[in-house]
Amino acid sequence: MADSTGRTGAGSPGGVLAGLDPEQLSAVTAPAGPVCVLAGAGTGKTRAITHRIAHRVGTGEIAARHVLAVTFTARAAAELRARLAGLGAGGVQARTFHAAALRQVRYFAPRLLAGRAMPELLDSKVRLVTLAAARVGLRTDRAAARDLAGEIEWAKSSLVEPGEYLVAAAKAARDTPHEAAKVAEVFAAYEQLKRGNGVIDFEDLLRAAVWGIEEHPDVGDQVRAQYRHFVVDEYQDVNPLQQRLLEAWLGGRDDLTVVGDASQTIYSFTGATSAYLIDFPRQRPGAVVVRLVRDYRSTPQVVGLANAVIGQARGSAARLRLELVGQRPAGAEPDLRIFADEPAEAAAVAARCRQLIAAGTPAREIAVLFRTNAQSEAYEKALAEAEVPYVVQGAERFFERPEVRQAVLTLRAATRSTPGETPLVPAVVEALTAVGWSPAGAPPGGAARERWEALAALVQLAEEFAAEPRMLPIGDAATVERAPSLADFCAELARRAAQQHVPTLEGVTLASLHSAKGLEWDAVFLVGLSDGTLPTGYARSAEQIEEERRLLYVGVTRAREWLWLSYAAARSPGGRARRPCRFLPQFERGGGQRSAPAAGGGAAGRKPDRVRTRTISCRICGTTLLAGADRKLGRCQDCPSDLDEELYERLIQWRVRVAGAQKVPAYVVFTDATLVALAERRPTRPADLLAIAGIGPRKVGLYGDAVLALVGGAAVDDLAPEKTSEREPKNRLPSRPGEA
Ligand code: ATP
Ligand code: MG
Repeated sequence: MADSTGRTGAGSPGGVLAGLDPEQLSAVTAPAGPVCVLAGAGTGKTRAITHRIAHRVGTGEIAARHVLAVTFTARAAAELRARLAGLGAGGVQARTFHAAALRQVRYFAPRLLAGRAMPELLDSKVRLVTLAAARVGLRTDRAAARDLAGEIEWAKSSLVEPGEYLVAAAKAARDTPHEAAKVAEVFAAYEQLKRGNGVIDFEDLLRAAVWGIEEHPDVGDQVRAQYRHFVVDEYQDVNPLQQRLLEAWLGGRDDLTVVGDASQTIYSFTGATSAYLIDFPRQRPGAVVVRLVRDYRSTPQVVGLANAVIGQARGSAARLRLELVGQRPAGAEPDLRIFADEPAEAAAVAARCRQLIAAGTPAREIAVLFRTNAQSEAYEKALAEAEVPYVVQGAERFFERPEVRQAVLTLRAATRSTPGETPLVPAVVEALTAVGWSPAGAPPGGAARERWEALAALVQLAEEFAAEPRMLPIGDAATVERAPSLADFCAELARRAAQQHVPTLEGVTLASLHSAKGLEWDAVFLVGLSDGTLPTGYARSAEQIEEERRLLYVGVTRAREWLWLSYAAARSPGGRARRPCRFLPQFERGGGQRSAPAAGGGAAGRKPDRVRTRTISCRICGTTLLAGADRKLGRCQDCPSDLDEELYERLIQWRVRVAGAQKVPAYVVFTDATLVALAERRPTRPADLLAIAGIGPRKVGLYGDAVLALVGGAAVDDLAPEKTSEREPKNRLPSRPGEA
């Protein structure tokens, strides 16, 4: 039934097949039956499956109403629907597993429940989990209950019953929020309470759909008659329960197209597993397997780094890894930066965001991505100070998070009970300890850790606030330099909260790496890339470390054009030295621009890393300069220049004369970069000349007088060229430049 009329609209086969590369085409035109598309990030996965559906519908091979396309998030499902509609296949159902199951269970409920009403669906387990925990003698706050709920979700998604939990959790090396036996008790009590209340949760909903299809032949027949062709996007995210539902839908049939990238599996902790994707060709003999490697999203430079990161991956997910081939025109090399401390890192990121926006990149096309939500505060502050609009994605702004608001109230209350002479940091630690925070370290459990980290971020703020000398009020009008009190700190927190409060609809995105999955931006900053943060210090097993590596891979592949990766050698100014992310040996090989010890106080100075002969930092942004041309300029080449054009002209003229007189090429006298540095920095003393890379004592001796005279305003004609050819340095320098 192939269309031969030559129609070319999007809904026609010709339109649907146009603009596909040969591999995409083979996926799109594969005959009915199992198809597995192993596609790297940005290779056109979603494009391939939407075009395959549209092609089959357009040729009349299948009917749109018989197709079910599933994915994992509502946003991804909406994206599928929009793309399908654009291709003329708007009648196709594209839903999340949950939405598809809910629709079916609702529809069949009267038949399945013999007229009884469908039980209410719980949209969160937290309340019942809290009750269940209390029943087995566990007191839980909201964060602890969320962690227990997450663990129960993992078990149910992994088809693990309460009685099997203990063994299953040990086998999966679960990082349980409480002793596993206790979690099993809470799990059992939760199930009981839930039944007693006549409610069901999301996993029950999927189980009900499976049960309805498998145990009720009439329901099964009807569902299978309705849905005959299945497509799953992001198949590496499927969990055993969802896979079970997919099998129930298929009922032994094989018209299934799956698309996935095992290298982007970052939700294993919820029960998602790439095992089904990896085993697909073996489980379904005769499956058409298509590999897409052309990356249409990112520049070859970004693609190169992505390949390098994932190239080191180990384990089963790594077996399917594909080397991406960038299709876009060349762009800038990824910018690797090392800063002395986190505030310096955040300030530099904010400054660069400002520059990008000023140069025309819309703020919504820029993202700052980090490993944990607690890292956002430093960036919220730096962006607010730089007056760059931002939106925090997938989480509240730092000062709006419940635990932070509660902690700020606690600190404010403590100002009344804390003796005035108590040093700030101990006062803050004491007040936060009273609300369950512990300086000893984070408790187990993701939500409990997030809470701990948010409060730890407040302690860090207190450390920074205490370390910085500043003028503080002592009375109504007077200020004096004194140690800050808890009340001063509370005032500072209020100031920051107000500054960061400005609501914006559009701005630079601040997001965790997890919530950035599937998204893309023109410019991406991956920040806080120190070992212990990425990979997180909580990752212990080899598999957990591999998942962290994939997280970095997901981050790198979000960037279309411009990518920045940075870490701070210490957390706070003067703090303990840290190592860079182990997945980025480029940092250690000198690919990263290191911040100056001078800027970093003791921290950078104490670093065990190799120390370069002479540290030169960018006088605009403060990073250490490693590239020769940057070192000569005394700033990053892309940092704004404050060049004295007129002086630069005279320096060029002078160099022409000197080179002519000495019969040497101009660069032997001074390179262009050195002349630019001279015209930017306008040195006034021989010692200042020495501070410019590319000018040593010999050149100061040879040309120092002339250059200083030019900076002082002398015309080139006023300088005697013959003087410049002297072989013997006449301008003797003191041994210590400071004495000049
Ligand atoms: P992700 O890993 O983020 O899910 P993906 O593999 O699903 O990415 P798509 O979103 O389908 O990739 O495609 C990425 C981008 O590349 C899109 O903007 C898409 O339109 C474009 N693209 C895909 N294939 C081609 C092609 N053959 N020619 C031109 N552009 C393409
Ligand atoms: Mg996609």
